[in-house]
Parts: sequence; C-alpha cells; structure tokens
Amino acid sequence: MGKITKKLIKNFLIIMIVIIVLSSFISSFFLSKFYMENQFTQLKIKCENVYDSIKDGTPYRNIDANGILITKDSAYSIGRSRMALMSFLHNNDINSIKDKGTFNHPMGEKYLYSRLDTDIGIIVIFENTKLTSDYLRVINIVLSTVFLMGLAVFIPFILIFGKNFTRPILKLQKASYDISKGNFKADMTIETGDEIEELSLSLKNMTKRLEEKYSLQRDFIANVSHDFKTPLSIIRNYSEAIKDGLVPLDEVKEYSKDIIEEVDKLNNLVMDILELSKLQENKFNLKLENFNLYNFLNSSVNKFKNEVIDFNFNISKDILVYGDKAALERVINNFIDNAIKFSPNSSKIELYVKCNNDDIIITVKDNGIGIEDKMIDEIWNRYYKHSQSGGMGLGLPICSEILKLHNFRYGANSKPGLGSEFYFIISKDYYSK
Ligand code: ADP
Repeated sequence: MGKITKKLIKNFLIIMIVIIVLSSFISSFFLSKFYMENQFTQLKIKCENVYDSIKDGTPYRNIDANGILITKDSAYSIGRSRMALMSFLHNNDINSIKDKGTFNHPMGEKYLYSRLDTDIGIIVIFENTKLTSDYLRVINIVLSTVFLMGLAVFIPFILIFGKNFTRPILKLQKASYDISKGNFKADMTIETGDEIEELSLSLKNMTKRLEEKYSLQRDFIANVSHDFKTPLSIIRNYSEAIKDGLVPLDEVKEYSKDIIEEVDKLNNLVMDILELSKLQENKFNLKLENFNLYNFLNSSVNKFKNEVIDFNFNISKDILVYGDKAALERVINNFIDNAIKFSPNSSKIELYVKCNNDDIIITVKDNGIGIEDKMIDEIWNRYYKHSQSGGMGLGLPICSEILKLHNFRYGANSKPGLGSEFYFIISKDYYSK
C-alpha cells in the first residue's frame, strides 16, 4: 500500500473518530437533557390525571403511574411502587422537595419525579430512569454501527481512490528518477486535468531544457577539446621542429609568430570562458562612466577599417552615454565580427544609429547567411554556434550578459539567406545630450 493511501486512510479514520466522539458527547449531553425534560412533562401530566381521577372518584390506582399522595393525615401509594414510596418518604422531607427532580432508590436505581400541589394534598409521581439510559445506549450502538459500516464501505473505496490518485504521482516519481539517470525520453504523459497534470507539463519543460543544456554541454566539451587540440598540436609541432633544427633559420621568426598567434587564441578562449562564468554568476562589476557616443562608434568602426563597413551615425556629436565603455565595445566588436564572419567576402556591412522617440538604437546589419527562425533565440545561449563559425559560441552570450547588466534592450532580426541585424537600445535614462 502506498504512503499516500496510508495517509488517506489515517486521515479518514481520524475524521470518523472525531465525528463519533462528538456525536456521542452531543447525544449523551443534549439528548439526555431533552429526553429527561420530556419525561418530566409526562410525569406532570400523570400527576394531573391522578388528581382528576381522585376528584372524579374513578380509581386512580389503575393509572399507569407510580407515586404517592400525601394528605394532611396520611400518605397513600399510587400504582405498585411501594419500595420507591418507602424510600422516598424515608429520604426526603416532603415539604422541601422541588417541583421535579431525581432521587436514588436504596436498591441502586435512579428515579425521576414530578410534584403537584393540590387541594387534596401533594401528588408525587416517579419513574425509573432505566428507560433514559436504554435510549442513550441504543443511540451509541447506532453510532458505533454507522462507524463500522462507514469503515467497511469507505476503506475499499479509499484503497481504489488512493491507487488512482497515487498512480500519476508514482509515474512522475519514476520519470524523475529516469531523468536523473540521463534518460530524457521517460514517459510522463498525464491527463488528470488537475495540478498533477500541470506538474507533469512543467517536468516535461524542465526535461526539454535539461536535454538541450546536456547536449550543449556535450557539444561544448567536444568543441573545447577540438579547439584546444588544434592550436596545441600546432604549437607542439612547430616548437619541436625548431628544437630539432628542422626549420631554416630565416623561417624561425615566421614559425614563432604562428606559435604566438596560437597561444593568443588559446588565451582568448580561456578568457572568454572565465568572463562568461563571471558574468553569469553576477561577479562582474561594470566600470560605469560617461563617454562620448560618437567618438566611441568611430573608434569601433576604425578597428575594422580593412573591411567594407558603411556607417551612418545620424546623431549629435555631444551625446554622453553612461555605461561600461570597454564592455560595450566588446558587444559592438562581436556584432561586427560575426557580421563579417557570416557574410560572403566584400558584401556590405552597416553600422548605423537611429533615434526613435527617446531611444538610441545601435544596429549592425549584414547581407550574409542569416539565421533560421527557430534558432533566433538560441544564438544567445552558451555554446550555440554555426558549423562554419570557427568560434566557441561564447561571443553572443557574453554580449547578452553585458547588455542585461546595463539594462539595455537588445535583439536580432534575420532571414535565412538574406542577412541579419543585431541591435541594442540605449534608453533615455542612460544618456544625456
Ligand atoms: P561564435 O561567433 O563563436 O560562433 P557567437 O556567440 O558570437 O559565437 O554566435 C553564435 C552563433 O550565432 C553563431 O555561430 C551563428 O550561428 C549565429 N550568428 C551570430 N551572428 C550572426 C550573423 N551576423 N549572421 C548569421 N549568424 C550569426
């Protein structure tokens, strides 16, 4: 039996026991009070009947009642209860007893009585309380039977209900175990139309993301190994050739230059990985300052002066932007680098700045290979890269983190085969004129 089913049964039993205890308490307290009041009324009516029959001269001894009639001179028994009469007379001063009440018979039984003061004398009628306790006993028996019948009916019902209820949960439990073992195809289809179904959908989403991350990570390890391996083997082969004297003296310089280039490449790779980790762990502190936007863009374009770049800065030369100049330069460089990398040689690349309402939009546009629609969001993720990239897929994730830290909106529009544009927006809170 599952833990949830056990819990259901336990809670059901607790509820039933509370109901039974409460009903027994209520019945023994309120019902006995109600029943006794009813009995006192009956006894009073009997007193009146006895009085009427004495007045009418009919024989009151035949009335179905036990009691006494006390006149000035004597006491008479009513009905067949002599013992009760004797005991009552013995234990009570007749003038001091109330209109109604109880007294104990010397044999141990309890009696209810009602008193009626008449012109003939005092009439007191008794009745044994045995009936009242019998009545309460019956009620308790009925309640216990209902409880037992409830158990008999509900426990199998709860077992079936519990099983139906726990089945989808157990399925999800198994699915999460499978996912933790790397099986992302685990079946977690649930159609209960409630929160459990919603949970299964969330789990499905989570699994999809995990699977993507897992495959990106796997690709990354493969890429990193590959990207490290090539420069490392170039460095090793060239150094070995120089050491063994296989390289003519006039070419040593050239070989050394290649080695330095490869070392720089490795260094950049490691720096990128470290920088992205810092950014994503919020350990990167922006060096915020006011800098001139026009000069900043000019110097960015100058770095690519050997490339065909059209630029159009239709903006005031006095705009000051509040940001981390070096970090934003990295963003522009990355956008231009990619535009060059993913465009045919000598195709046009544009860097232009537009003012829209109070926003300044900086865009890098190319006429290159473009990006498929379904990938347009993926490109900002770590390690995502095109097969012809030659990079590590870390450039755009770094840009994305830098722009997020600045609170600048950013994005990309692209059509496969027609080109792409990458932009970021400086809102009016971050610049002054
Ligand atoms: P990398 O350039 O090292 O591949 P990025 O993070 O800079 O890494 O870019 C990730 C991917 O985004 C690229 O591999 C490419 O698929 C796509 N991409 C980025 N810029 C462009 C562009 N201008 N045109 C087409 N694809 C692009």
